[in-house]
Amino acid sequence: MALDKLTGENSMLFIKSEQLFDFARSNSLWYMSFGIACCAIEGLMSASGPRFDFDRMGVFFRNSPRQADVMIVAGTVNKKMAETVKRLYDQMPEPKWVVAMGACASTGGPFREYPNVVMGVDKIVPVDVYVPGCPPRPESVQYAFLELQKKIRAKAGERLAARRDNDQ
Ligand code: SF4
Repeated sequence: MALDKLTGENSMLFIKSEQLFDFARSNSLWYMSFGIACCAIEGLMSASGPRFDFDRMGVFFRNSPRQADVMIVAGTVNKKMAETVKRLYDQMPEPKWVVAMGACASTGGPFREYPNVVMGVDKIVPVDVYVPGCPPRPESVQYAFLELQKKIRAKAGERLAARRDNDQ
């Protein structure tokens, strides 16, 4: 939003640097290009294509966990894969976020009867946003990013409020 629309012309806006950083972070969420199963085609490949165009939201994929802010877990996580998911998560720098995309990543999905399937990736890494569906539409993944942006901005406000309370 233009500053003059927010506050009137020739005015100044004071903001804590922490809020500014979180605002910047929330508008440049780079996700790791990493897909486990069919959800990856819908959520990562379609969403990054020209029709849905995640780039305009500042959401790009990166090929290294060391340059990624977000891990989209797109697919069924089995016990063999769980170790790799955890290792990749650990290699991402802080702050980092996780989106569980689809029924499989959220709860085990249609494969939850199988003994080698993990009943949701939140058993391995902390999840910030869950996207329902099998497979979810790319619009749902986009919506998940909008929710994640809200969460990141709200966190900055909570941190500052907690600090104010401690100072009193
Ligand atoms: S939720 Fe459906 S589309 Fe996604 S990985 Fe599982 S089976 Fe495939």
